Amino acid sequence: MGITIQQELEQIKQRGLYRSTRMIDGTQGPHVEMDGRDMLMLCSNNYLGLADSPALIRAAVEATERYGTSSAASRLVSGTMALHEHLEREVAAFKQCQAALIFNSGYAANTGVIAALVGRGDVIFSDRLNHASIIDGALLSSARLIRYPHNDVRALEALMKKHRGSGRTLIVTDAVFSMDGDMAPLRELVELKEEYKALLLVDDAHGSGVLGEGGCGTAELLGVATKVDILMGTFGKALGSFGAYVALSAELRDLLVNRARSFIFSTSLPPAVLGASLAALKIVRSPEGASLREKLRGNAELFRALLVGSGFSLPEGTTQIIPVLVGAVQTTMRFSEMLLGEGIFVQGIRPPTVPAGACRLRCTVMASHTQQDLEWAAERICVVGKQLGVI
Ligand SMILES: *Cc1c(COP(=O)(O)O)cnc(C)c1O
Repeated sequence: MGITIQQELEQIKQRGLYRSTRMIDGTQGPHVEMDGRDMLMLCSNNYLGLADSPALIRAAVEATERYGTSSAASRLVSGTMALHEHLEREVAAFKQCQAALIFNSGYAANTGVIAALVGRGDVIFSDRLNHASIIDGALLSSARLIRYPHNDVRALEALMKKHRGSGRTLIVTDAVFSMDGDMAPLRELVELKEEYKALLLVDDAHGSGVLGEGGCGTAELLGVATKVDILMGTFGKALGSFGAYVALSAELRDLLVNRARSFIFSTSLPPAVLGASLAALKIVRSPEGASLREKLRGNAELFRALLVGSGFSLPEGTTQIIPVLVGAVQTTMRFSEMLLGEGIFVQGIRPPTVPAGACRLRCTVMASHTQQDLEWAAERICVVGKQLGVI
């Protein structure tokens, strides 16, 4: 019979792991309205500030007026519209890949792609800190899942030697780790995958649009843009829209069209979303995109320096994801609550998102934050951090 739903909820609460949603009024800007109050937004993935961009809004409206509100079916039934193929051509050109395939979300991409590429008898090597959608994809695939210590290429190689098998081998990693903000050693992973004839899937949900000269992402920044077999990115974070893509060879695309269940069995993205994504890509690839990236880099540098200067210990990194390590669940959630009281919205991150004892505030800066926003936030975080004995 098992425990009741009520008992299960009680258990979650007792462990300090109870989650609920918080409502925001208005758009996802650098400031948001919460319960009628102005709050500084410090936990959004809207890194370039495009989520309320007039160009994206106009593109979404125009796409809707021209093509309607729904795609009405899976791409393989009647749901492939001109905009889907247009967006795929643009993504492939942007990533300098043969082909691209659009998925309904990053979650759908990872679960669909991994389970399509490997199955029983195959092996997946996955970084210990990879996103939940990668783990879910691995579990769905029925392939053997071997998790390697975070960013430890030597340990990975030892594991690959030990588990050399007859089936396919897939290495999968976040490019920028979503809760830590550090980058995967993509150059070394490319060498390994070449030596062991493995496939390499890189999830660049947090680097696309943000990193590299052209905003192409982490692989561009690290000089391996053309060496990754499957480069996944999302439209819902820096690109201010929704959905995801994989950039890959025409052959791999063909396989996914035939095998990826989240592609096959789900209604495709609607015109409004595709229109907004096309407009976002255009901005990312323009001089405006380059200047937004520069602003974001400057903001990340400033905020990291301010926090370190106040005595916080930050994990190594340079990106816009800036985790303030706290440790215990209760202190972390209290920290977040007290900052809400100050007018700063930043989430405490707990298990299972991060390992027990590694709770943190996950601060993210945006290109649209002002220097004054960040100086003020760092000062308030410092005051609350002292009150809680974190620093
Ligand atoms: C957010 C995220 C995803 C999921 O993407 P959605 O489009 O939000 O479903 C996948 N991987 C990583 C690393 C992410 O941070």
